Amino acid sequence: MATTLSALREHIDATPFVDTHEHLLEERTRLAGPGAHRLQPCVDAALLFCHYAKDDLWSAGMPAVEQERFFSPTVDPADKWAILEPHWRRARHTGYLRAVAESIRLLFGIEHVDSLRFVEVSEEMSRRARPGFYRRLIHDVAGVETCQVNSLETTFCETQYPELLQQDLSLIAFSTGLDRSILDNFGQLSGLPTATLDDWHQVIEWAFATYGPRADAVKSQAAYQRRLNYAAVSAEEARPLFACLVKGEPLTGAQRQALEDHLMRFCIDQAEKARLPVKLHCGYYAGSDRMPLERVRQNAGDLCPLLADFPRVTFVLMHIGYPYQDEYIALAKHYHNVVVDLCWAWIVSPLACVRFVKEFLLAAPSNKLLTFGGDYATVENVVGHAAVARQGLAQALSELVSEGWLDETAAHDLVEPLMRGNAHQIFPIFASHHT
Ligand SMILES: [Zn+2]
Repeated sequence: MATTLSALREHIDATPFVDTHEHLLEERTRLAGPGAHRLQPCVDAALLFCHYAKDDLWSAGMPAVEQERFFSPTVDPADKWAILEPHWRRARHTGYLRAVAESIRLLFGIEHVDSLRFVEVSEEMSRRARPGFYRRLIHDVAGVETCQVNSLETTFCETQYPELLQQDLSLIAFSTGLDRSILDNFGQLSGLPTATLDDWHQVIEWAFATYGPRADAVKSQAAYQRRLNYAAVSAEEARPLFACLVKGEPLTGAQRQALEDHLMRFCIDQAEKARLPVKLHCGYYAGSDRMPLERVRQNAGDLCPLLADFPRVTFVLMHIGYPYQDEYIALAKHYHNVVVDLCWAWIVSPLACVRFVKEFLLAAPSNKLLTFGGDYATVENVVGHAAVARQGLAQALSELVSEGWLDETAAHDLVEPLMRGNAHQIFPIFASHHT
């Protein structure tokens, strides 16, 4: 058993991940310093806690005033460890905190953080943040060959590094929470009118024509705002609703949902024409004190009509729908066009993911599982998250061997496809790359 695990660990450590989901800020944004983005309030070691770890610290009881000081760009890093330490001790074994600790260990060789080390990490972070440091961290330290980025800076990010940071085309602006300012913004960008639903269809077509050929997929995190029960609403039904929106007349909840249903299905039609997989946020919410778990629980069931109505579209269901991951195994097994992505999930609940990988591989075809997406805005965190994912993947495969479900050769044969090969098959951007 020990030798199986260590041999798998070695194989997994030597194999690059395709990282199928990040929110990495552009390197130039990072280098622009504190406040260049809301997820970059400071650039000292506290930045490592800003995306996700912050939520567990809050849940552990970190008061808002301490949180504000901890992430402040003007508080001296030498004073920050004392603010963090009691909350760090309470939350340190969670996946979010483990990913931070692993980043610090692998990047700076520090096993135990204390006040002095916190300052040391802060100084090293700023010393190393130079043009080109993203590539070094992502390739050389995290062992990731390419990242797929859902930019939080814009609908489609014109990245400095298109080979390293493939980009999702976000569907949110076109489909969800539509308002006058979004219409005006895209009217300006496209040079097209936005007065009618048919105009808006053309703006969406323009976006797919402009960005689609360079996108890895389309992405929607509408599940943060609504159920995923997108009904088939015709253009005839949606036209007057869009007209109300343009005139600034209020829409009822049901009317807004019907309009969004129509627009989302229109977008998925476009994705099908552009041969772009559709990535959907499913399951757990980032942040704190706002998750309507009853609605989240409905995600998998809500999606079934969409999966059946668009048989030629590949749906990538993200985050294993945690904590309802069993249902996503059922979807991947039953629907030929469903792929499940472990992105983010390794740090939400590492052991749930170990169980998930084991159960998935014995229930659904292995080519329908994507095993890593760091889901971070801060590049250093990708290193720690990739380490957590490698540890979990090695554990899952070695347990399947020791429990008699796989022989060692079969376990090793799964490593390359699970870490990168499946992604190369699923995302057409990899194919166009080589022609
Ligand atoms: Zn995400």
